[in-house]
Formats: sequence, structure tokens, C-alpha cells
Amino acid sequence: MQYRQLGQTDMRVSVLSYGASPLGSVFRSVNEDAGIRTVHLALERGINFIDVSPYYGLTKAETVLGKALKGVARERYFVATKVGRYGADMRDFDFSAERVTRSLDESLARLGVAHVDIIQCHDIEFGDLTQIVRETIPALRKLVQAGKARYVGITGLPLKAFQDVMEKAAVDTVLSYCHYALNDTALERLLPALEARKVGIINASPLSMGLLANREAPEWHPATAEIRATCAKAAAHCRERGQDISKIALQFALANPRIATTLVGTASPENIVNNCKWADEPLDHQLLAEVQRILAPIHNRTWPSGRPENN
Ligand code: NAD
Repeated sequence: MQYRQLGQTDMRVSVLSYGASPLGSVFRSVNEDAGIRTVHLALERGINFIDVSPYYGLTKAETVLGKALKGVARERYFVATKVGRYGADMRDFDFSAERVTRSLDESLARLGVAHVDIIQCHDIEFGDLTQIVRETIPALRKLVQAGKARYVGITGLPLKAFQDVMEKAAVDTVLSYCHYALNDTALERLLPALEARKVGIINASPLSMGLLANREAPEWHPATAEIRATCAKAAAHCRERGQDISKIALQFALANPRIATTLVGTASPENIVNNCKWADEPLDHQLLAEVQRILAPIHNRTWPSGRPENN
């Protein structure tokens, strides 16, 4: 496993990191023991950064992750959680100072840790960005001063929202998802602004939340039918060549040295073992070029998320 510096933090993170959303049965119903075993395998194979949120499985992912981390030495991993999102609807967001402050205490109790390494505003595009700049981020800075978190980050889908917040408030990390994968590399546009501010770059969803896999993406996936069908065509092409599209998708994301770490989500021991193995194997550039040609018609096609003004 390779490690890279995460922005200006003191964290040297594994290039492949662990996204704990599937522990909350976000993709499909998950066996808790298998989920716990997956976390242990990830740590054994060199992953040292874990991302979670109270939203995943409506606190279930944090609870299962807390069970997995029980008895694991705290210095073996960095853990990030989030505040502000507590359900799927607009009304389930609350970025007020009071709620986010209480939220972190609740997360620490579920995770069984005294502090998290990064506390992040979850899906900022659903919030009022002025509130996030003036109220939420300052409240999170106070939690850093209180020793409950070490760094402050923001997460979300539309790159415009990151730009808007970063222009007005200092953040230590940005977690972007579905924008640095085989079918969508729009994050490249934001890299200069992130690098100029020395913000730590966390890329999530290298399999585009299941589009770049052999199994069909979940029902709730926001991609259009055309994006789904084109990704399925690319997956079939890899199968014909005796390859797994998930492997090439993962390796493609990890290969970019400007991105500190890429979070992949799984609650399957078999998947995490494969993912860690693939992280150390060379990328097949010939197959990559073929897959990119198939995906070219939908390259950088995305979907709206959150408030219209934040897209
Ligand atoms: P992903 O692209 O990592 O895809 C996850 C899906 O791929 C799951 O269905 C999983 O079972 C499957 N998968 C994983 N490894 C596989 C393998 N080897 N072979 C076949 N299938 C495999 O998407 P994700 O889980 O959404 O993203 C990763 C993590 O990033 C999340 O768990 C979460 O921690 C984080 N994230 C954060 C945000 C946010 O903060 N707004 C958004 C998206 C993701």
C-alpha cells in the first residue's frame, strides 16, 4: 500500500481508504459480522483512513464501525465522520451550530473514540452556504479547540459548492465523490484551487457508487439510463477481456498523485481483499484506453444534487 500526505494535515493516508457507508446497509442489506471482518481486513492490509457519517444507515454504519474498532489501537487508523445530514430529504439537513455540536458527541459515543481526525459538513449543497461559512465551520473549529476533532472538512457532489465555500472559509479537507472515476474526471478542474489552498483532497466513489462493477447499480442510483447502460457496456467489454471493470476503475483513481486518497465502500471481505490487492498491481493501459473510448459519450455527465443555486 502506498501512502500520501493529506494537504497540510499531519496525516499520511493510504492511497486506498475505507468508506463505511455499506456498513449501514446503504447498498444492500449487510451481515454485521462480515462488515466487521471487512474493517479488520482493511486495516490489516494497510488501509489507515476510514470515512463514515451518522447519515449512513441512520447511525447504523457508525454503530457497526464502533464495534469493529473496539480493541483496535487508536493510532492504527484515522477516522473521519460528518455532521449536518440525518436523512434523505431536504428537511433532514441541519447545519446549525447547536445540532452539529451535539452531533459530534453522538458520533464519538457510537464510534467509541475520544476524537475524530476530521469532522466534515455532509453534502454542503443541500445547505445554505452562507450558514455553513458563518455558523457551521466556526462551530466545528470550536470542536477542534475542545479536542473532539483535529481537522475540518466539507463534502458533496457539485464542485461549484466547494469553490464557493473555500473562497470564504478555510477548510482542511474536501471530500468529492463521483467526480474522479473512469466515467467522470471533473474533479481535475478543481485541483488547482485545492492545491493553491493546500487543502487535503479526498476522492470518493471510484466505482461511481456501483456503476463500474459487474453487479447492477442500486435502484436509488441517480445516474440516467444512458450513463448506466454505457457503464454496463464498459463492464461487459472488460469481462470479454477476462478483466473486472472494478479493478481498472480503482487503479485509475489511485494512480493520480494529486489525489491523496480514494475511498472505496464495501462490507464484503472478498471485495476489500481484492481492492487492496489491486491497489498494488500495475494498471493495464491498453484496456484503460479501450474502456475510456466506450465511456467517452457520457464523460463528465453528472446529475444535480441539493439546492439549484449550489449546482
Ligand atoms: P463506491 O464507488 O466505492 O462503490 C461502492 C459499491 O461498489 C458497493 O456496492 C460495493 O459493494 C461495490 N464494490 C466495492 N468493491 C468492489 C469490488 N472489488 N468488486 C465489485 N464491487 C465492489 O461508492 P461509495 O461506497 O459511495 O463511496 C465510497 C465511500 O466514500 C462511501 O462509503 C463514503 O464513506 C464516501 N462517500 C462520501 C460521500 C459524501 O460525503 N457526500 C458521498 C459518497 C461517498
